[in-house]
Amino acid sequence: MQSMKSPVLSAADQKYDVDIVIAGGGLSGLSAALTAAENGVKAIVLEKLPFVGGAGIFPEGSLGIGTRYQKEKGITTTTDQVFAKVMEFHHWRCNASVIRTLLNESGKTIDWLTDHGVVIKNIRTMFPPEKSLQVWHIYEGHGARVVKVMSESIKKKGGLILTRTPVKELLINNKGVVTGVVAENAEGETVTVNAKAVIIATGGFASNKRMLKKYVPDVSTPGMAKLMYRGPVVDGRKGDGINMALSANAALAGMGTLAGNSPYLDNEPAIRQFSGPDYMKQMRCALSQPFLWVNKHGDRFYNESFGSVFSDVYNAMTSNGGLMWSIFDGNMQKFMVENGPLTPFNAIVVPGQKMTALDEGIQKGIELGFAFKADTIEELANKIHIKPEKLRETIEKVNRYAGQKNDPDFSRKPEHLIKFDTRNGPYYALKGLRAFFLTLGGIQINTKMQALNGNGEVIPGLYVTGQDMGGLYDSTYDLLAEGSASSFALSSGRIAVRGIVQIDLARTSKDV
Ligand SMILES: Cc1cc2nc3c(=O)[nH]c(=O)nc-3n(C[C@H](O)[C@H](O)[C@H](O)COP(=O)(O)OP(=O)(O)OC[C@H]3O[C@@H](n4cnc5c(N)ncnc54)[C@H](O)[C@@H]3O)c2cc1C
Repeated sequence: MQSMKSPVLSAADQKYDVDIVIAGGGLSGLSAALTAAENGVKAIVLEKLPFVGGAGIFPEGSLGIGTRYQKEKGITTTTDQVFAKVMEFHHWRCNASVIRTLLNESGKTIDWLTDHGVVIKNIRTMFPPEKSLQVWHIYEGHGARVVKVMSESIKKKGGLILTRTPVKELLINNKGVVTGVVAENAEGETVTVNAKAVIIATGGFASNKRMLKKYVPDVSTPGMAKLMYRGPVVDGRKGDGINMALSANAALAGMGTLAGNSPYLDNEPAIRQFSGPDYMKQMRCALSQPFLWVNKHGDRFYNESFGSVFSDVYNAMTSNGGLMWSIFDGNMQKFMVENGPLTPFNAIVVPGQKMTALDEGIQKGIELGFAFKADTIEELANKIHIKPEKLRETIEKVNRYAGQKNDPDFSRKPEHLIKFDTRNGPYYALKGLRAFFLTLGGIQINTKMQALNGNGEVIPGLYVTGQDMGGLYDSTYDLLAEGSASSFALSSGRIAVRGIVQIDLARTSKDV
């Protein structure tokens, strides 16, 4: 067995011989490691950061079809139904076979997690019951609890997880078989792992600015406002796995697609608006309220009632220069303080929850440049560089719609059509920018999660999971298949290990 670049080992350097080496200890890497441990397969997880979990600590829940939980609740959604919806959504511009495989596995994956102690709190949906597929299984303690349960089970079963050990390169022999990795630990020592197979599970490239600019048109389109990033402050997801797979001649798929978010206030890090102080969370909630959203020209551009359908908002903002203004008057501001929001911000600020930190938030927002306040509509418009007559015209139009309780432009819900006081201020504007939380492009794979080259041939010994997989989404994250990203990550880890047991562990040394 030879490496592409043979590392020079010193006495302190470490060497492991295992069946499977897993690069990345997030959702897909841990699910692979746990599956290996359960099957008596010797695996090692190498994680770049000092802690495991990756983006996997964030998900509220995952897609599952045919779970025990659904059966108990009388939910009868079938894989055929979900597959049909997913294909309709992506217009078949995606890897249909891999998607079908992952959907087939999704229910078993949820049941498997619950066998390990993960608790399903409920099935949530962002859609009306008649539209919902009812597949989004919400975890008690969210993804963080799933990560904890999996890593504890792995350790109990004797599996090995090394943190602060980024994988640097693949070992590839002269027959093109991937035979291990070279990593580096916190002491700067080389860690060489020889294995029958490598699983790449490094979570995509959400925090690699250079790769985002290179591969994602939404980021590099001239004239577009800044794209916010909603992810951990310390983030290991820099495309390492994708670049290592490229070094083994793997092919890319769907690299231009992001999972976009609803807008965030123009203040970084965006994750503070999700999990920071109350005033930030409440300001983020105020931003998404369905009073009035306008683009940089002062025109409405979206049905404000559906602010939580985040992929749609992201796309609408992308078609409008990437920027929006949320406008409200003094009465609306008072309503939020005294009664809470009209529409929830996830489960973070919900109707009935008084937004008592809003005044503080507006004050801070004015200082930081993402909130604006004025005594007249015209003064507010000037502050946000919109033609005063245009903003007044849009507000008066919304007032007419509120009077007739009908929005003939975008069908905003009648209960969200509320009149502005056009004579007496104050008036407020909050600046929102597009945000994203995941990259969806990566390496081409087959239904066993094996990496493929540009000719569709398997790269022996190389498997790809989670956000490093490419070609599963067309232009947009599919929200109707709620929780698909984490579901696909968890299931792909399990499927990859099964493939390795069948294929790579059965290989004789002659084949290698
Ligand atoms: C804010 C937020 C909210 C989300 N909410 C949802 C949701 O509600 N539903 C849903 O389905 N999905 C959600 N997701 C997506 C979900 O978290 C991902 O789909 C999932 O975590 C992907 O798993 P993964 O294993 O590919 O990557 P991750 O879980 O991100 O793990 C990748 C790991 O690899 C490590 N790594 C990177 N490079 C190296 C290297 N060279 N060597 C070793 N280790 C390396 C990283 O540090 C990281 O720990 C959310 C994501 C975010 C950020």
